[in-house]
Parts: sequence; structure tokens; C-alpha cells
Amino acid sequence: MRMLPTVLANLFAKAATRNYPHFVRESFEHARGELVNDIKGCIFCGTCARKCPSQCLTVARGAAGDKTEGAWTLEFFACVGCGVCVDACPTRCLSQKATHRPVAVERAVITLTGRLPERPARKDNAAGKAADKTEA
Ligand code: SF4
Ligand code: SF4
Repeated sequence: MRMLPTVLANLFAKAATRNYPHFVRESFEHARGELVNDIKGCIFCGTCARKCPSQCLTVARGAAGDKTEGAWTLEFFACVGCGVCVDACPTRCLSQKATHRPVAVERAVITLTGRLPERPARKDNAAGKAADKTEA
């Protein structure tokens, strides 16, 4: 019986939740929303994919048979927006918008491609060969 006042109060009180997506909460500073990759800065190292707790990232080097190209793929609806990949990215090309992606009825996967960084010439080999010649 002691519950009755609470039940009645809750019945007539304003709802504590919003009717999303018709009413969207305003974003706030440092909110972790949609993940964005500025692919020009990506070196396809795969760190983000290895660290991602929900395994929604895939990084491929030599995508589509082209050894100079890399592909970065994100399953949007598997992403929990934790920001671990953003913190781990060595080139800081990942960021998160303050807002979330709009709701959708189909699974969304995005693939971004770019050129792999050129490998620097192996100086140790060149130096080693030079040393061998000097010794001979
Ligand atoms: S960690 Fe950054 S640079 Fe490395 S593959 Fe991911 S997005 Fe690209
Ligand atoms: S924000 Fe979290 S869940 Fe989403 S891709 Fe990055 S590490 Fe994975």
C-alpha cells in the first residue's frame, strides 16, 4: 500500500526519457559522437583496429590487389563511441563529432581508401654494404 503514492506520482509525472529520434538531446562539449577518419592522415597501421573493444574496425594494407593502397573500414552500428581508437591513433587522423549518426534501418559500413606511406630506404643495409667494401 505504501507504493501507491509513488505509483500515482509516476503515472502523472513528466516522462524521464525523450521520444528519440523526434526529440534529440542537445550535444555538449567533448561528447563522443560519430567517428570520423581524415583519411589523408591515415598510415593504415592498424592500431585502431587492434585496440577497438567492439572489433568494428578493419584495416587492410594492399587492398584490392594494389600494394600501394590501404583500406579502413568501420561498421558504424557496432561502434560504441568509446574513443579508444581516437586516443590510440599515432597520426591523430581520427576524431569524434559531438553528434551521433542519424538512426537508420539498414546496417551501415563505410570504407575509406588511401595511399600507403612510402617506406624509407633501408639505411642500415646501405651503410653495411659500404662498411663491407671498406673492410675488403
Ligand atoms: S590508428 Fe590511425 S593511422 Fe593507424 S590505421 Fe587507424 S586511423 Fe589509420
Ligand atoms: S570509438 Fe570505440 S568502438 Fe568505435 S571504432 Fe573506436 S574503439 Fe571501436
